[in-house]
Amino acid sequence: MPKKLVLATRNSGKIIEFRRILEELAPGEIELIGVDQFPNLIDVEETGTTFEENSLLKARYTTRATGLPAIADDSGLCVDALDGAPGIFSARWAGKHGDDQANLQKVLDQLKDVPDGKRGAYFLCVTSLVLPDGREHVAEGRFEGSILRAAIGTNGFGYDPIFQPEGLAISSAQMSAEDKDLVSHRGKSLRAIAPHVIHLLSTLR
Ligand code: IMP
Repeated sequence: MPKKLVLATRNSGKIIEFRRILEELAPGEIELIGVDQFPNLIDVEETGTTFEENSLLKARYTTRATGLPAIADDSGLCVDALDGAPGIFSARWAGKHGDDQANLQKVLDQLKDVPDGKRGAYFLCVTSLVLPDGREHVAEGRFEGSILRAAIGTNGFGYDPIFQPEGLAISSAQMSAEDKDLVSHRGKSLRAIAPHVIHLLSTLR
């Protein structure tokens, strides 16, 4: 019987991506389910002060509420010239949660006098696994690049149109989803935690 694992996200893209990674490493061993299969779960308030704290808050709550092992992630954009902001506030940088256009415009405005060469930034993603017996594992992934002077591209979400990955001449909103998964913070953190998920779940009865 495959072991059940809850992924604490309503984003079906993340579920499909992680399912693909787990299947490649351990075919048939883990059944990944989304939180939408548990209608009573609430959206946890992200009251932590770091990506790690917020991802652990979400994973711990999901494990407690479902009685199943759970993983959750937390991610955002860290801009050097803004001392790491917007960081954990990425989704609501301009005030309203999830207003991607306003958020990226605010970063462009804040960097308007910052010269090329000082526009470095990275996306960070921290993924946490929590088991019902209290065992935990945390992994992170980074996606290095810089902030462009104007938005370009229509793929992706969030800050992708203003983020130029290191070594590329395009924005991450001009990459295909498959190409981005290979180098992105989320792809890296999922691939980093996957072997630990497989090992820890194999120790459960
Ligand atoms: P969440 O961890 O999925 O809630 O993402 C937090 C916020 O960080 C998003 O709302 C985006 O603003 C930003 N973000 C995280 N990952 C990405 C990415 O891959 N591209 C663009 N923006 C991202």
